[in-house]
Amino acid sequence: MAQLSDDCFAFGGPMMSVDEAVAIIAARVTAIEDTETVALEHADGRVLASGIKAALALPPFTNSAVDGYAVRGADLAGGGEQTFPVSGRIQAGALAGDTIATGVAVRIFTGAPMPAGADTVFMQEDVRIDAAGNVVLPQGLKVGANVRPSGEDIAEGNSVLSAGQRLRPQDIALVAALGLTSVEVKRRLRVAVFSTGNEVVSPGAPRAAAQLFDSNRFMLTAMLKRLGCEVADLGILRDDRIALALALKQAAAGHDLILTSGGVSTGEEDHIKVAVESVGSLVLWRMAIKPGRPVAMGIINGKPFIGLPGNPVASFVTFTYVVRPTVQALSGTPRRRQMPIPVRSAFTYSKKMGRREYVRVSLREGADGMLEAVKFPREGAGLLSSLVETDGLVELGEDATIVKPGQTVGFLDYSSLI
Ligand code: AMP
Ligand code: MG
Repeated sequence: MAQLSDDCFAFGGPMMSVDEAVAIIAARVTAIEDTETVALEHADGRVLASGIKAALALPPFTNSAVDGYAVRGADLAGGGEQTFPVSGRIQAGALAGDTIATGVAVRIFTGAPMPAGADTVFMQEDVRIDAAGNVVLPQGLKVGANVRPSGEDIAEGNSVLSAGQRLRPQDIALVAALGLTSVEVKRRLRVAVFSTGNEVVSPGAPRAAAQLFDSNRFMLTAMLKRLGCEVADLGILRDDRIALALALKQAAAGHDLILTSGGVSTGEEDHIKVAVESVGSLVLWRMAIKPGRPVAMGIINGKPFIGLPGNPVASFVTFTYVVRPTVQALSGTPRRRQMPIPVRSAFTYSKKMGRREYVRVSLREGADGMLEAVKFPREGAGLLSSLVETDGLVELGEDATIVKPGQTVGFLDYSSLI
């Protein structure tokens, strides 16, 4: 398991930008090394441990792209229709048979191998069959049309997938097309998740008047699972330094990452800081991000620890910008910048210079067909409805101070964030 040094997240400055935080994580968290072999049907979302080269060209043999008639391109003359006798028939999966004779057409179907000598296929929709059973070919088809040459998709020996890549359905299709039945992937990360706070109780448990049901643990678990992690739900910890310290230390023994929510501010009832410092080392990053507040990063027994803020929206947003890059670094996945989609703002918003802010928005289609972002009417970081009733976040960069209706802004769909 990867071990990190105690001061790996140390940072001297007062307020850290999101990009700085992400760069520190990427530079200082090392990937786990353990790998396992999984069958293709279990490979979705897994991280490739080593690159894959094509041991087979794709397509493996030259074949017809359409149902039609194969001919020699050299037999095609310039002006007018041409009539060829039809000699032979090749179905998909059948052998190509003999070399095509000069001046004839071979009936052929999509995916069937081209007979040697033939290099062009007329689509059946473009030809006629005359009374004698010959095929009448129109003029003007280019030599080589409607043929898929062997290796046009992927040449034999090419690198097709790289180590660290998270497999998507289309990647798995490619691996299958190469004839492989399994892939070597990183083992799943084991992440321990806790909620903290005396006011937080599990759904299903009795709730006192001043308590609320834990929502963060379920949200964070779901987000981690979408990132391919194996999650250990370790319940709710009370605002008690000693209990917290003990639980965190135990969790560090069997997990690659420890994640908590709540208790990371610096009030006297926020105990995460002291607890982590008693069993490891901790830095609190005041990140220039809204919604956000401080995020705690630390090391316990060589394992990264992340303490997210308790407010659900702050937890959600900081997960994306702190936990996600950490999970990627631990699994050896190169980080890709999320790419906001340009949409038109339908709202007015002013923000602080130097801070990155995320506005919860719904999308609608404007009168001219362009997508417009409509801001959720309220802004509290505790409003779950603001996440549930919207489609994503508008990202406002550090330099922006005001957004006006009609302006183009960058939109991130929730599904692209996790
Ligand atoms: P804290 O970060 O501990 O100061 O908590 C900030 C706010 O988030 C408080 O109102 C907490 O009650 C709330 N909160 C903390 N943890 C959770 C949780 N697991 N689920 C829902 N709300 C929470
Ligand atoms: Mg608290």
